[in-house]
Parts: sequence; structure tokens; C-alpha cells
Amino acid sequence: MIHVDAPDFSLWVVHKYPLFLRAMAEEKIKEEYIQCKSKISEHANIFGDKEDVCIFCKIAKGEIPSEKVYEDDNFISILDINPETEGHTLVIPKKHFKTILDTPNTLGNEFLEAIKNTSLRLIDKHKAEGFNLVFNNSKIAGQEVDYVHAHIMLRKLGDGMKLKMINGLRDKKDQK
Ligand code: 5GP
Repeated sequence: MIHVDAPDFSLWVVHKYPLFLRAMAEEKIKEEYIQCKSKISEHANIFGDKEDVCIFCKIAKGEIPSEKVYEDDNFISILDINPETEGHTLVIPKKHFKTILDTPNTLGNEFLEAIKNTSLRLIDKHKAEGFNLVFNNSKIAGQEVDYVHAHIMLRKLGDGMKLKMINGLRDKKDQK
């Protein structure tokens, strides 16, 4: 069994492989990571904003499967593969932008419309009463996938939900 002890390994895997592939080919993925790292300098960005290694690019093109909640000309909404709540959904542009700061203002209205349309569908389907809208921008803010996406997290009265993606970071800060 290959042992990989590198801080960026898990992030690299998240960017390159969907969850079901990660489970099926763990050893092969580790081998590929080691080869990839040995070819480039330690500080190079191997997480890929390039289309051929980007999971969300592949999802947007339909090259890997996803459960689509909504689609229009420039956006799709997909169920999160590792949901924190029932109906946890990601709204992504079909074109790759890293964070909200890289996303053209001209897509702003359409982004908002896609978020609204998706939320309305989800609220109706899951009989929710509201939702949290979360954008993680950059690694320090908890962004694991370098492809701008809005998290829609449905809320119901008394659901007791705590947002791990935010509270987790708070916990780490409190430990220092
Ligand atoms: P971030 O931490 O970047 O804001 O959130 C990335 C989200 O993408 C996570 O909630 C994670 O579960 C989700 N995710 C990662 N890989 C995949 C995938 O292959 N398919 C889908 N549908 N979601 C994914």
C-alpha cells in the first residue's frame, strides 16, 4: 500500500477525481500524484484550472455524471456529492472562473437568476422555509474546488444545522 504524506494530496485528489473514482482507484491515484509531483516544482499549481483536470469543467461538459437540479445557457446546478444538508446544491457557471473575483460582472444577473431559480425548485421539492447561500473564495476561506460555485443549503425550522464549512474554520482559529 502506497503511503502519501503531503499536505496538498487530498486537495489534489478533490480537484482531479470525483468521489466515486477516488474510492475505486485509491492506489492508482496515489501513484499518479507522486509522478505528477516529481515532474514539476514543489510550489507549482497542480490543482489545475486547466479543463482536462478540473472536475467541475468535466461536470459542466457532461463528461462525468452529476445530478442536475437546474440548467440554463450559462449555468448549471448540481447536487453536492458530499451533502451537508438535504438538497445541498452547487450553482456553477459553465465556464471556469476561479472565484467570484474572477467572474465577469456581466454574468452577475444570470448568476443571481440561476441561484434564485435553483433555490425555488429546491424549496418546493424539499418543503424548506429558507436557505443559506455560501461562496467560499480561496483556500483560506475553505474553498476546495478552484471553480467558483454557490452553495445552496436549505433550512427548515428546528433543523439545528451548523455550517461545518464555516464553523470548521472558526474552530481551527479558536485552537491557535
Ligand atoms: P468548496 O469547499 O470548494 O466551497 O466546495 C466544494 C464542494 O464540491 C464540496 O462541498 C464537495 O462535496 C463538492 N464536490 C467535490 N467533488 C465533487 C464532485 O465530483 N461532484 C459533485 N457533485 N460535487 C463535488
